[in-house]
Amino acid sequence: MDILTRLQQFIDSDRLTTQADQLAVASRDESTLDPVSPLAVVWPRDSAEISRIIIECRETQTPVTTRGAGSALEGSTIPSRQGLVLDLSRWTNIIEFFTDDLQITVEPGIIYDHLNNKLKDEGLFFPPAPGGSGDIATIGGMVSTNASGIYSVKYGGTREYVLQLEIVTGTGEIMKIGSRATKRSSGYNLVDLIAGSEGTLAIITAITLRLAGLPEGSRQSAFIFRDNVSAARAVSEMARYGLDLAAVEFLDSAVVSALNKLNDYGLDESPCLFLEFHGPEEALKANEELAGSICAELGGKPLILADGQRPWEIRHYATDAIKHLKSGYDIIRNDVAFPISKLPEMVGFCHDEADKASLIIHTFGHVGMGLLHALILARRSDKTEWQHGIELSDKIIKRTIELGGTISGEHGIGLGHKNLFELEHGRAVQLMRQIKKQFDPDNILNPGKIFDM
Ligand SMILES: Cc1cc2nc3c(=O)[nH]c(=O)nc-3n(C[C@H](O)[C@H](O)[C@H](O)COP(=O)(O)OP(=O)(O)OC[C@H]3O[C@@H](n4cnc5c(N)ncnc54)[C@H](O)[C@@H]3O)c2cc1C
Repeated sequence: MDILTRLQQFIDSDRLTTQADQLAVASRDESTLDPVSPLAVVWPRDSAEISRIIIECRETQTPVTTRGAGSALEGSTIPSRQGLVLDLSRWTNIIEFFTDDLQITVEPGIIYDHLNNKLKDEGLFFPPAPGGSGDIATIGGMVSTNASGIYSVKYGGTREYVLQLEIVTGTGEIMKIGSRATKRSSGYNLVDLIAGSEGTLAIITAITLRLAGLPEGSRQSAFIFRDNVSAARAVSEMARYGLDLAAVEFLDSAVVSALNKLNDYGLDESPCLFLEFHGPEEALKANEELAGSICAELGGKPLILADGQRPWEIRHYATDAIKHLKSGYDIIRNDVAFPISKLPEMVGFCHDEADKASLIIHTFGHVGMGLLHALILARRSDKTEWQHGIELSDKIIKRTIELGGTISGEHGIGLGHKNLFELEHGRAVQLMRQIKKQFDPDNILNPGKIFDM
């Protein structure tokens, strides 16, 4: 019996589809990589049903790609070997709220902003705050990519908040890993292994997160600089001083110009930093003053936003603004991360190399953690230009690795950066292959992502 006939035996017809429009939605993510249509999309009912689906898929050697909101940027959600897409976006419930412990157990499909809206009344929040996708990204997707965001410089990325998971492995086994204890020395940390594994080891069906208290107070400020490297230097100086930043976002002048074009913000088209501080009034004042004097030493001037303009709303549109800047152009992206002291060098490197190659580049990101997005615009129709764009992106990644950094700070490897994975990890990739085999002996879970078996 083929896989569809098998699934039809136990999945209601309104939760299993082969309709072209639904397959088209499931065929892509937010990367610019080519879509691949799956055989079918399933909206499973519960973990037991997922387990049964996996057993059927294993017997028929059918690949399974789990999907949250499909907002991933490196092709990790594209069902590149077809098979089944397991859509968990309808799993949006809070399973249990442990208010006294500042913890919550949720289903994987709950959307980041929706969760935080619910936590607000308890004075709590789940901090990572993805820059432009908090309104769509699911918690399951965030755990699977170890997403981070605006507030990660102070509070950490997603992985730091995951205590316990319920998972279904590639053999269909349902198990709980981790515990609700916030400090653990009990065996291997499988929770951290699943976080960031891009759906290649297991399907996450429940997530227990620890939460943070909403800050007592917060304050925002913004600075503009005469050049990109000075802005970057201000950030690495702030880090060196141990400044308690809740957020620091860098936008180069090209990004600011793209934002003006998209939404008519009327911003000064200079490189800028958006900052936020959290804490009691006295600490806010002291941190703001120190940040101000570091910025001033590097030529930074305060940027006063117009009434009604909010920094994070502006920042939210950065990727969109670049995407819609020039018709006929596509984005070649990366999201490298490196030790914070290397930020000025990396910003300079990206722009110098783009100039040499006569390519358009935009740099921005959650730079307080040494994370930088370098988005190159090129035309696919111009094969030489596209190839030069890819070469530039690879050059940026290779320089990052030389400086002690990593290919991906937050978006994952997916299909987009598989080619350089071995360069970063060397022989450890073989160990990763063996780990994958333990979870997924038949390589049915999101096969072909991160590395090939
Ligand atoms: C405009 C824009 C801005 C963005 N900004 C940021 C940012 O600031 N920081 C950041 O980190 N990311 C950012 N992203 C990327 C993206 O939003 C994140 O990677 C997000 O965590 C993906 O969540 P999702 O629900 O869309 O996951 P999906 O795209 O559906 O899936 C992502 C990966 O997780 C796997 N997966 C999903 N759910 C499960 C599950 N339950 N079990 C097992 N595997 C699963 C998928 O198979 C896939 O490999 C941005 C994206 C866009 C479009």
